[in-house]
Amino acid sequence: MRKLESICVFCGSNEGNDNEIISAASQLGEALAKNEITLVYGAAKIGIMGLIAKSALEYNGKVIGIIPEFLKLKEVVHLGLTELITTQNMHERKLLMQNKSDGFITMPGGMGTMEELFELITWLQLGLHSKPIGLLNVNHYYDDLILMIEKMVKKGFLTMDNFELLLVDDNIDSLLHKMKNFKDPHSPKWLNSERS
Ligand code: AMP
Repeated sequence: MRKLESICVFCGSNEGNDNEIISAASQLGEALAKNEITLVYGAAKIGIMGLIAKSALEYNGKVIGIIPEFLKLKEVVHLGLTELITTQNMHERKLLMQNKSDGFITMPGGMGTMEELFELITWLQLGLHSKPIGLLNVNHYYDDLILMIEKMVKKGFLTMDNFELLLVDDNIDSLLHKMKNFKDPHSPKWLNSERS
């Protein structure tokens, strides 16, 4: 079983309008704190991001925020974190978020969240890291995305092994359990790679 001492959470910088998602954000912050897992995230005090951080801190958890200089506007950055790291740009930020975390959880969010999730899965497929990536599918938020990824498999753009790299669950504890037990199969990214 792998140790998860720190988890990076990707999620919306908006709060959305689904109360189940809003409560799940606080529950995730609480669960990370109670499991003594440091939260690594984008340092905002707004949106789902802010809710998770607030809750982790309320339960005496450690929270590391990593934010690029240009996003560090006084109104959005959380100034009460355990540690706040400022980077030069988004690329440096994402690399640091990766290096400081033993795993990743994606909660509901928008385009920024998708970009962060897919970069991480892409890098896992290519063997550039071997850390578990969990998708917290609160209140079916990601059902359509999962169907789309299944279509990639059906249409021959993704292997089943690589589809299974993404750990999906609607429950925080079971997702953490799957992440602790994650074994990277290191299977090839390309279908029919003997042809090339
Ligand atoms: P989105 O899903 O489009 O709301 O984007 C959320 C993701 O983008 C977060 O995981 C952050 O890394 C980043 N992000 C977007 N807005 C902010 C912000 N105001 N402060 C910090 N990070 C942000």
